[in-house]
Amino acid sequence: MSLFDKFQQIAAARQPLVERGIRSNVVMEKVISSTEAVINGRHVILAGTNNYLGLTFDPNCIEAASRAVRQQGTGTTGSRMANGSYSDHLQLEQELAEFFGCKYGMVFSTGYIANLAMLSALTGPGDVLLIDADSHASIYDGCRLSGAEIIRFRHNDPDNLAKRLQRLGERTSNTLIVVEGIYSMMGDRAPLAEIAGVKEKYGACLLVDEAHSLGVLGPKGRGLAEEAGVEDSVDFIVGTFSKSLGAIGGFCVSNNPAMEMIPLAARPYIFTASSSPSIIASTRAALKILKARPELRNKLWDNAQNLYQKLQGLGFRLGPEPSPVVAVRVANIDEAIALWKGLLEYGVYVNLVTPPATPDGGCLLRCSVSAGHSPEQIEQIGNGFASLKEVVREAETA
Ligand code: PMP
Repeated sequence: MSLFDKFQQIAAARQPLVERGIRSNVVMEKVISSTEAVINGRHVILAGTNNYLGLTFDPNCIEAASRAVRQQGTGTTGSRMANGSYSDHLQLEQELAEFFGCKYGMVFSTGYIANLAMLSALTGPGDVLLIDADSHASIYDGCRLSGAEIIRFRHNDPDNLAKRLQRLGERTSNTLIVVEGIYSMMGDRAPLAEIAGVKEKYGACLLVDEAHSLGVLGPKGRGLAEEAGVEDSVDFIVGTFSKSLGAIGGFCVSNNPAMEMIPLAARPYIFTASSSPSIIASTRAALKILKARPELRNKLWDNAQNLYQKLQGLGFRLGPEPSPVVAVRVANIDEAIALWKGLLEYGVYVNLVTPPATPDGGCLLRCSVSAGHSPEQIEQIGNGFASLKEVVREAETA
């Protein structure tokens, strides 16, 4: 076995795509707005980003980022632990904590790092991480880094979670349950009220990753815990700036005093450079907009409902509930690629997701809608699918 043999496996998994003419990642040749770009020389509507509130081109965010880069430079060139904590990082932490009504807030360089940092600092050998089986890769990687025992429970199944907690006996006090607000592939919400009830019954800790639900769910946009009315039962909320806030970065908010030790204990916080001043500035501006303009959330949901209904009406097999992530399930890779390429030619970009990234081993066309989409763009996305309906056998029989 050579060092490089493992790449043969990766290449083999990619081969079906290569054989069908998909050789590399899609390149955005030109980004025109939060919802339009040029791909393969074609002007397309972007329906495969995580730009839920459409803030990437917001003038206030752009102005804040521009001012920060002029005043504070392009990068911090250091860790939060050393020279990389500027007063703006701390202000954003305080603003996030206030927004969530929490005592503590921490900012990380990405959402991926936030999960790595929190899971690996909160748990270690001898502890238990009880995670939803469909968890994001950053949760799985955080589990590995922690060295804790990893136990998966069936996706969105509180009874299965309860069963596993019961088996743990006294170890529940050393157990961290991890779930997500909205799951990124199928767009389904966690049954958080039930999960919080189970958590309380067994005395474990609960961390919720609100990456796809911040700015999307809840009367104030705080996410699923707010929508479900269980914020008091959630010990740690993790999230990202790379979706509804239109930048890059991650955070954790909590009332748990353990937060005072995380900066000293979390290697992914300590051993990486902190976010650039421009990122922190645009994120602070975006958070203000998220708070001040609930109409963006309403528009996002109107767009989500409209696309979901249109695709459902066309007979496509979709994720279980309307959501800003509209997952179109396709039976096999040939149909998925034909549909994806056809949409691109029509002028619509969506994400093509193939195993092993999909939860059930099938293929997905993962659409995501934005408050930035106009009703005409949503109509156009739906029309793109309608024009390709015959490509997907499943749609005819659904
Ligand atoms: N958690 C979840 C549930 C995600 O979907 C993602 C990104 N897709 C992340 C964390 C990582 O976020 P980031 O892009 O900020 O690293």
